[in-house]
Amino acid sequence: MASEGNLTTGLRKVASLAGRYLSSGKPHHAQWLVTRKCNYRCVGCNVWKEQDEHELSTAEIKKGLTILKDSGIVELTISGGDPLLRPDIAEILDYASEHFITTVYDNGSMAAKKIDTLRKVDFVAISIDSLDETKNDAIKGIPGAWKNAMHAVDALQKEGIRVAVTPTISQKNLYEIMDLTTYFIGRGIPMWFCLYSYDTSVDTRQLFRIGKANDEFIITDKEAMVNLCDQLIETMKKNKNILMTKKLLQALRGLYETKEQRTWKCQALNQFLVVDHLGRVSGCHNHNFTCSIFDLPTQWKNKKFKTLQETYHNCTQCNYLCYIAYSLYGSPKSIISLACDQWKNIKILFK
Ligand code: SF4
Ligand code: SF4
Repeated sequence: MASEGNLTTGLRKVASLAGRYLSSGKPHHAQWLVTRKCNYRCVGCNVWKEQDEHELSTAEIKKGLTILKDSGIVELTISGGDPLLRPDIAEILDYASEHFITTVYDNGSMAAKKIDTLRKVDFVAISIDSLDETKNDAIKGIPGAWKNAMHAVDALQKEGIRVAVTPTISQKNLYEIMDLTTYFIGRGIPMWFCLYSYDTSVDTRQLFRIGKANDEFIITDKEAMVNLCDQLIETMKKNKNILMTKKLLQALRGLYETKEQRTWKCQALNQFLVVDHLGRVSGCHNHNFTCSIFDLPTQWKNKKFKTLQETYHNCTQCNYLCYIAYSLYGSPKSIISLACDQWKNIKILFK
């Protein structure tokens, strides 16, 4: 049961979030990749090959988080690299959790060692790509990755910390995603999905690179992908632990239909933005940064931002699922429906 102090803090957070949700013309989602360091070697990822020792200090990140709050951000995803590798991550997460619906990503290696650090966040997302230990470890490039991740999920669930499993769907695991989903939702563990995607930009000034083109991972069985979306939509009707929306799954389905349908306009730098480990702000990681986080308050309304928003609105360069989700919830009506979904999540916090 929540203590009186926690309840007051929680209510203050909810009131502040609701005010920001209802403000229009401002971004609501931010991804902050607080470190470029990673201890895994995933086959479909560039991050570990392009690590950087430099990153913002704790004080700089907290200052940046305040700016994001004042800019209207409601939902914050903290990732990396692996953000839990930062020695000051407890302080960052405590501060973030006071102001945002906060999700932190972990590759599965750190969460069980940082239980107390994770108590206040709204979701801890643990990456597991297969129930087959050998296969999962081959994808992650590290022996023991599967055992670590399964242990992390167990430990977080046992401690009552809201954990979600987040596989990256690729051709490598496409046919086992439903088994993976059934297994975890059967244990009461929510699922969110990433979609294997790779950076096609030839722009060497893009903020940073994530996905690496890999023939084994590129989804070629489009029919199976359409079927998977249909199965997930059906499963959602019976189980609330699939953290996707029907609208998002239908949008994903459209990408793999015989005649590809793209049912959204990208809302990069409009409804969502990305901040990298050096505090540089961009609409998404595929484009060059546009300003420093510390200049965001003065830059937000300027002409350069407006021009970039319009350019990104017509961009169809990538299929990163989180960007699609943020784009789908760009209109005021969609924001209200998303707010209702998130409200359910907030209520869970009070249990
Ligand atoms: S996918 Fe994540 S865990 Fe894997 S190497 Fe890249 S940043 Fe690290
Ligand atoms: S579609 Fe949107 S998120 Fe993807 S590269 Fe273009 S601007 Fe960025």
